[in-house]
Amino acid sequence: MKAIGVNVSRRDFLKGMGETAIVSSGVLISGCAQNFASSTTGGRNPSSEGASFAQATGAQDDKIRKGPARAIDVHHHYFPPELMEEIRRHGKALGVEPAASADGSFSCSFAGGRPRTFEPALAEVEKRLKIMDEERILMATADTATSDVGYRLDGQRGEAWCNLFNDALQNLVKKHPKRFVAMASVPMQDPPRAASVLERAVRDLNFRGGLIASNVNGKYYESKEFDPFWKKAEELDVLLIMHPGDLPGADTMRQFNLGTVCGNPFDSTLSLGFMIYSGLFDRFPRLKLCLLHGGGFFPYHMGRFDQRFTMTAEGRKIPAASRPSSYLRNLYFDNLVYRVETVDYLRRMVGTDHIMVGTDYPYELGDWKAAEKVEALDCPRAEKEAILFGNAKRLLKID
Ligand SMILES: [Zn+2]
Repeated sequence: MKAIGVNVSRRDFLKGMGETAIVSSGVLISGCAQNFASSTTGGRNPSSEGASFAQATGAQDDKIRKGPARAIDVHHHYFPPELMEEIRRHGKALGVEPAASADGSFSCSFAGGRPRTFEPALAEVEKRLKIMDEERILMATADTATSDVGYRLDGQRGEAWCNLFNDALQNLVKKHPKRFVAMASVPMQDPPRAASVLERAVRDLNFRGGLIASNVNGKYYESKEFDPFWKKAEELDVLLIMHPGDLPGADTMRQFNLGTVCGNPFDSTLSLGFMIYSGLFDRFPRLKLCLLHGGGFFPYHMGRFDQRFTMTAEGRKIPAASRPSSYLRNLYFDNLVYRVETVDYLRRMVGTDHIMVGTDYPYELGDWKAAEKVEALDCPRAEKEAILFGNAKRLLKID
């Protein structure tokens, strides 16, 4: 079997994929085979022990870890602490009410839903800046967590909550303009309002895009009711980051924390399937969507998406000339796949110009050393720099 060279274009490579799907095992260097299973405990809660986790997730490699911080992390969660006080004071009007928690941590409930407890790491800044420095992350997008998007709220309250959230995110950016840019939280339960919240965030607050969950209260994006939002994102020419959340079958997957291991990548894949097969990217060909956790299972099963397309025309809404894999032109991916050889596979599948660094800070299944995985790739420096910061600078319009 012949390994596909690093200099082929994404288009050429995908053509080649029809014949062979090969990843060279000879391209890997140090750091590629770390087993993270033993150093993570699973679970969806942010770790308050970020630094110790970082130390536990692999040996330091001086050959790789040299030079100043310069990576841009597009998968980086934050909750503005000032919102906790806002919820305490005005929670009833917001529909986001404080709730009791067993250990005294701040907890709240959206529209009477299951209480959501905040761990300190999600709302903390100084420690994350230190970890960013240690792991050579120069900048990060401040992203909401899907637990905090408030999709259970009605449209009006959802809009108020997201605007409030975005104003608070803006406080972080103002305080640390060289370290953070923000992605808007938007009320996808009311797409026209989501469009106006996104527009306000981008035009008035200088946000660089929006964050959406992989489904909205169990509803996926095959319906045209979401079109006002996609249209606005296209018009504003901003990146959308899609994060899995509110997983179907969550109760079944609760054991062993399989919701995070299997459910998150699954729901990103499923959501993308709805988008592609319903013709979303045909209606909005300039839409730019970033999938997290390496794109879930899509990069690995792109052939399966194509195969189904060629087998049946029933219910197919996308032009016959377009296979699902052709929509890679609309898609971007973070590199949160833990292993260098998997990052390399992703690079070969989707193209160097479509991958960015993602750490999932501060969650336990995050990889603070995501930038190191890029440095460890066996590819030209220009390609590493594109993944580390070049693509993010272009997509997020960072000078
Ligand atoms: Zn995440």
